Amino acid sequence: MTGSLTIVGLGPGTPEWITPAAQATLDAATDIVGYGPYVDRVPERAGLTKHASDNRVEVERASHALRLAAEGRRVAVVSGGDPGVFAMAAAVFEALEAGPAEWRSLPITVEPGITAMLAAAARAGAPLGGDFCAISLSDNLKPWEVVTARLEAVLAADLVICLYNPISKARPWQLGKALELAAQHREATTPVLFARAVGRPDENLRILTLAEAIVAASTADMATLVMIGASSTRLIAREGAAPYVYTPRSVAKMPCATSQGRT
Ligand code: SAH
Repeated sequence: MTGSLTIVGLGPGTPEWITPAAQATLDAATDIVGYGPYVDRVPERAGLTKHASDNRVEVERASHALRLAAEGRRVAVVSGGDPGVFAMAAAVFEALEAGPAEWRSLPITVEPGITAMLAAAARAGAPLGGDFCAISLSDNLKPWEVVTARLEAVLAADLVICLYNPISKARPWQLGKALELAAQHREATTPVLFARAVGRPDENLRILTLAEAIVAASTADMATLVMIGASSTRLIAREGAAPYVYTPRSVAKMPCATSQGRT
């Protein structure tokens, strides 16, 4: 038997948001490898071995998956959302790059999933209708100065900013700092989205102003995707329901600081 390895995106949480292609990979797998809560999302069945591991051991987990594939197993490495977005796909390629040459002849594929920012955007309206970017606030894998330098750059460029990994017990202050930085470039009334556990039973969407978000920063958690609007991001009010959040597709001119000064 020839082994194979597929890194599969399980989407944000609900089974309806798993693509048919991802589901087919899970159905054909002999082994599921991943962080415990994601492995738990795959139902048990005869012939399937599950290998759940702790968070933060991504490259070890990836090497383990590659070893299983090299032994002839059909391995599915599972990630929440999309496996290429701050997740296991890059860890697998890191392990591949550093590992034995024979691993490179294994068939390795990536099955995409719906990433958190797209799920959150869909719930809110169309906040990603213009240019946007995604930044992980985690400074486990990069220095905090790199995070702030990147935030400064994208704030100056007036992009909508999606913040993954906004806060954790070990990183309690970074989100507040990031929002304070945003307030130096954006109006206090700029819409900010706290989208928590999108697609799960405890889903919760909060539409705040930037000023309110600074005060509420500590109420976000690791299951929250934070989205900071661009200068053109706005709300459409509705009777008896939350407003829609959207960013128009067209931009007339640069409203923020440029190398030529403020325009
Ligand atoms: N690969 C994942 C992201 C992993 S980083 C993806 O594509 O979605 C983990 C971060 O993703 C969390 O800290 C949170 O910011 C975000 N996230 C993951 N699932 C989420 C969900 N269901 N709702 C809101 N944010 C989520």
